[in-house]
Amino acid sequence: MCGIVAYIGKKPAATLLLEGLKRLEYRGYDSAGVAVANADGKVQVAKSVGRVRVLEELIETRRGFDGSTGIAHTRWATHGGVTEVNAHPHCDDPVKGHGIALVHNGIIENYASIKTYLLEKGHVFKGETDTEVLVHLIGELYQGDLERAVQAALREVTGAYAICCICEKEPGVLVVARKGSPLMVGVGNGEYVVASDQSAIVAHTNQAFTLEDYTVAKLTRDSLRTSTVDDVEIDAKILALEVDLSEIELGDFEHFMLKEIFEQPAALTRTLQGRVDHRAGQIVLGGIGDHARALASSRRITLIGQGTALHAGMIGSYLMEEWAKIPADWDFASEFRYRNPIVSEGSVVVAVSQSGETADTLAALQEAKARGAMALGVINVVGSSIARETDAGIYLRVGPEIGVASTKAFVGQVMVSAMLALYIGRRRFLSQDFVSSTLRELEAIPAHIERILKQSESIRRSTEKYIERENWLFLGRGVNYPVALEGALKLKEISYIHAEGMPSAEMKHGPIALIDKGMPCVFVATRNSQYEKVLSNIQEVRSRGGHVIAVATEGDEHIKSMAEDVFYVPDVTEMLQPLVTVVPLQLLAYHAAVLRGKDVDKPRNLAKSVTVE
Ligand code: GLU
Repeated sequence: MCGIVAYIGKKPAATLLLEGLKRLEYRGYDSAGVAVANADGKVQVAKSVGRVRVLEELIETRRGFDGSTGIAHTRWATHGGVTEVNAHPHCDDPVKGHGIALVHNGIIENYASIKTYLLEKGHVFKGETDTEVLVHLIGELYQGDLERAVQAALREVTGAYAICCICEKEPGVLVVARKGSPLMVGVGNGEYVVASDQSAIVAHTNQAFTLEDYTVAKLTRDSLRTSTVDDVEIDAKILALEVDLSEIELGDFEHFMLKEIFEQPAALTRTLQGRVDHRAGQIVLGGIGDHARALASSRRITLIGQGTALHAGMIGSYLMEEWAKIPADWDFASEFRYRNPIVSEGSVVVAVSQSGETADTLAALQEAKARGAMALGVINVVGSSIARETDAGIYLRVGPEIGVASTKAFVGQVMVSAMLALYIGRRRFLSQDFVSSTLRELEAIPAHIERILKQSESIRRSTEKYIERENWLFLGRGVNYPVALEGALKLKEISYIHAEGMPSAEMKHGPIALIDKGMPCVFVATRNSQYEKVLSNIQEVRSRGGHVIAVATEGDEHIKSMAEDVFYVPDVTEMLQPLVTVVPLQLLAYHAAVLRGKDVDKPRNLAKSVTVE
């Protein structure tokens, strides 16, 4: 789920591996470890619970981490507690083994039966992880060739994995493989840098290839062999990575989350670039061109995702119904895949995901495809597992998102959903004039966000007033209801304050019982078709002593008499309001976390991309 880095080349591996692990820290983890194969052939292992910094200090006190081949890992525990013993790398049997060390992201689902088999053969296990079972199996099958042993072991396992391993008996060899969990091989000059995420690669090389599922790569300093687990040789398609280093570094910002909130105008400009055709009054979406006709005649569109991506998908469903005039709904991918969904030919399922690796979303999409649906992707990471699984898709182009709390990817997903709805709508009922004027509104969004960002300091001051409060409500109606959910999620994720989002009108059906004196209630109360209704909901909160914080339309003076704090956003057409109303809520969550002294970019228990169910 979390991070893998491996290296083979001429440089000291330990330094490079630790630097790589630090770049992956944002993905969330609970322990870390490194194994280096030294010139004398010995494999040295160091691991620790907690931050990479702790591991680094540990290695500084130890000798023998001077080789130039090594593997490293940040773990997000799935099987076995968060302990040093369970941290990776794991080694094969100390008595019967061959000095093999392995790091693994993912889950070996049939580890229990393999463990029983190995116990019968006399293997002794130190910890409880599924990974330790896999490395013992590789050791058991080893007959002098690590690549062969890895292939043989992987033919026996089910589940998801990205693995890297080294062996004392084969110094100068690194074997890596994947199925289901991401893994990429960076190709340098006389060196390879392997990682679960390109951010650990780009500082060294921009030439890389993604391993396909069920493939194994055997790397030495100057050779590369890729094959399937059945040992059929295949070609690696090496491509240039488009990420540049400044995109994954903090620059002048204190946190990645804040940097990414401020990057939103530039990110959305890229999302739109080259995709707007004013003359024809149409959106140009090369990725889905071949499917335009089928999309326009589809019978139902379902948007699926988890967390923030699902909130964007919910907004997408409003947009599809409003503009494409096709029945649209949304679902948690995790629920969708197990509820025997009715999808068939004529159904379109849109997977929304920043990373493109979200396990539930991937599995749900595969399920929908198997049932005959067209699979579309609204994804940020190019070439990711979901992107490759779709029939067609539209990339967000918002750049790498490092902050665990998603911000620029959310607005990117909403913008792409709006573009998709316009694209389909134009092929059905929407006029050229309508699409042209909406496109102009879309193009104005980056400048609008720029204006909202100027309020960051005043949003901080407002947030400070309520910072001791443990319970918050976020309320919105219509297309701003998912924004309320997103505002609450942001606050929970990084400041650990309890917050709930809901449709404003739903409040009086139960949650109103929670409102007591001073409870902060954040309303999205922009001018739109439901404005008056929201004002009534605000009154209901005020009569019970709650504090009202409103996100309102610039120029709305009236709201000041009803809310203690007002965050203004420019006036935009109702269906596009989420692109602006979410921004003050992102800033509110960010400032709340900083005011509470929380680690904004590494919130507890969270991982950036959830690659397990
Ligand atoms: N399932 C393995 C474990 O619990 C790997 C977890 C991960 O991906 O970090 O150790």
